[in-house]
Amino acid sequence: MTKEKDKEKEETETEKVKDSAEIKLTDLPGIGATTATKLEDAGYGDLMSLAVMTPSDLSSVADMTEASARKAIFAARKMLHLEFEDATVYLKKRETVIKISAGSKNLNALLGGGVETRAITEAYGAFGSGKSQLAHQLAVNVQLPIEKGGANGKAIWLDTESTFRPERIKSMCQAQGLDFQKTLKNIFVARVFNSDHQILLVDKVIDLIKKGEPIKLIIVDSITAHFRAEFAGRGQLADRQQKINKHLHALMRLAESQNLAVYITNQVMADPAMMFGDPTRPIGGHILAHASTYRIYLRRGKKNSRIAKMIDSPNLPEGECVFFITETGLQDEEP
Ligand code: ADP
Ligand code: MG
Repeated sequence: MTKEKDKEKEETETEKVKDSAEIKLTDLPGIGATTATKLEDAGYGDLMSLAVMTPSDLSSVADMTEASARKAIFAARKMLHLEFEDATVYLKKRETVIKISAGSKNLNALLGGGVETRAITEAYGAFGSGKSQLAHQLAVNVQLPIEKGGANGKAIWLDTESTFRPERIKSMCQAQGLDFQKTLKNIFVARVFNSDHQILLVDKVIDLIKKGEPIKLIIVDSITAHFRAEFAGRGQLADRQQKINKHLHALMRLAESQNLAVYITNQVMADPAMMFGDPTRPIGGHILAHASTYRIYLRRGKKNSRIAKMIDSPNLPEGECVFFITETGLQDEEP
């Protein structure tokens, strides 16, 4: 993931789109359509996987000379900007990060100001813990001006479980004095039918951005449901993880190159090995843990409150906070 961050460089929006989404294997020297297909079939369909191959591996997989393989690999590394950058570049990048308000000040504080662009924020928790409610709140708030906790942008919602509710958007709009119809128009919702569809839809996001849509938030609610249902057998676990991993990397690339926020939700499953504390753990295990920049765990608290816990963050302390889900959205005060 940090490697993905490395490759980011300051470019105009349109150049960024081209950079992240349009480089194909066939753009590399010595790689034609046939070789590209061979590579894709062998699981090296993207530039990054090729960039980290050894010349001898590539030469045997793609049936080309080692010299040509070396050339292709170096070209891929160059395109991905895999060289070192001095740390001021990172600072500059951090300064462009926008934080989208979660509605509750407590939750914002836990998140270091809000849900960040250039990052994946994962919320996991049991049914009813508030994962989708937070998604609704973010879909509204991303549209606000930056000084009001928004990102002046639009939202994409990949809905795998039919949990998107325009009624909730309406109540939240009313509470903030926002135009409901306008707000709704700025949320692009897609019903996701299966995991392949889910992956495909992420590719489609770039088309919307190219058309000029200022997408600043991608919601995937939930990231794991389809994968879990489709790859149910024990023997399929590795395949499932690999597919989720690629999916998450595609999301991360978009987050980085387009300076947008990705919010994903994840269910929990019972962990029979856990004898003390909360006997649940997120689905997807370590793959998700590594791909998500921020990870929060949501659960129900006393008096119908919700408790959010920061589990994993590169720059924030672990901690907990309390918030409430109300008719008008997420807030700190008990309704
Ligand atoms: P999940 O984590 O499964 O996605 P949700 O985000 O859908 O959970 O949260 C559902 C909960 O949100 C409900 O159980 C209810 O407590 C609360 N909730 C949903 N709609 C409203 C509303 N209009 N007013 C108050 N609370 C609500
Ligand atoms: Mg939900």
